[in-house]
Amino acid sequence: MQNMVILGATGSIGASTLSVVACNPEQYKVYALVAHTNVEKMLQICIAHQPKIAHMVDSKAATALKAQLPSSLNIEVTTGEDELLALVSAAEVDTVMAAIVGAAGLPSTLAAVKAGKRVLLANKESLVMSGQLFIEAMQHSGAQVLPVDSEHNAIFQCLSERSQLEIGRCDLAGAGVSHILLTGSGGPFLTSDLSLLPAMTPEQACKHPNWSMGRKISVDSATMMNKGLEYIEARWLFNASPEQLKVVIHPQSVIHSMVQYRDGSVLAQLGNPDMRTPIAHCMSFPERITSGVEPLDFFKVGQLSFLEPDFNRFPCLALAIEACKQGQEATTVVNAANEISVQAFLDGKIRFTDIAKINEQSLINTATHPLNNIEDILALDTQSRRYTLEAISKLN
Ligand code: NDP
Repeated sequence: MQNMVILGATGSIGASTLSVVACNPEQYKVYALVAHTNVEKMLQICIAHQPKIAHMVDSKAATALKAQLPSSLNIEVTTGEDELLALVSAAEVDTVMAAIVGAAGLPSTLAAVKAGKRVLLANKESLVMSGQLFIEAMQHSGAQVLPVDSEHNAIFQCLSERSQLEIGRCDLAGAGVSHILLTGSGGPFLTSDLSLLPAMTPEQACKHPNWSMGRKISVDSATMMNKGLEYIEARWLFNASPEQLKVVIHPQSVIHSMVQYRDGSVLAQLGNPDMRTPIAHCMSFPERITSGVEPLDFFKVGQLSFLEPDFNRFPCLALAIEACKQGQEATTVVNAANEISVQAFLDGKIRFTDIAKINEQSLINTATHPLNNIEDILALDTQSRRYTLEAISKLN
């Protein structure tokens, strides 16, 4: 029986994780559920899964939850940053699903890594921001980090057992790998007329052709910043150089990524686009469990196609790759700028195409400093957010 903490329990990944837990009640127990403000959803999942602890980052939300939870369930409601860090590090906890969206996920994810937990990593932003520090913390504590992001999970599944055990410090060339082929659907605007992009609405941007996801990552898929963040994530998880990483557009989202070997072999992981598959894989690794996902029907899929990314259509992808080459300061700046610009787009304050422009300005103009610890990272994150907010206000 594994005791699990689910960070971001009220979100899309949280829901898929709870669904896999419900398929395998004899193997997994929900120890704690963590969310930000969504009391209604938290109440619902607390009743269904009966954790020992329900943690709301927002203290008012914690008070409201406490008032509504039936006392017969005996669920302890907590709030506060220190309490959250203590919760993920508690001795009773075996596994932490890190699925808080954005930079807000960094402190708790890193605390779980430092505590040597089995960390199922969905929060790609924490690796994008803390890269080296994250990998060093993992090696120091002996934490097992397993990639939930479907692409990284696919790559992980296509690597040799030795490379799987060496996550964060893989010797790809030594293992005969020539390239990691990171696939992406290209999102809802893959074939839209370029002249129409400035007028695309948040609703259109969030309508992903294959995946059902939270709003921030859905916009990131439309700009392909998501693939850019994944490129940076792959760089750290698999210790890959820019020469070893390629992005391939694959509109059907059936192949979730591939590994090309020196001898000409290409290994791919396929499946229906449903996050319960990579989540179940991470939860049970190296065993396999039921996820509730329909088996892939090749006769329904019919065709698989592939395209080269067009950086003119997807400037955010080019920017993230450039930031990755520049280093961790640049990726922290771009990640923070992108969170602010995506939120501004979702709030109707800027146009879809302004996201890339604003992100680029932030990368060029935010003064960086060396990142030696989490405080340095969070300070640079704040600086980039401040610059981006200013740049947005000047735009209007
Ligand atoms: P959602 O927007 O659906 O959910 C976000 C979760 O994070 C919610 O539980 C939310 O709580 C919580 N949250 C938001 N802000 C804070 C905060 N300041 N402190 C603590 N918790 C907070 O996001 P997704 O589930 O789509 O994505 C989660 C992560 O997983 C992201 O990093 C994303 O990139 C990654 N990911 C997602 C995939 C997907 O298919 N959805 C695929 C691969 C990776 P509340 O509801 O209370 O606001």
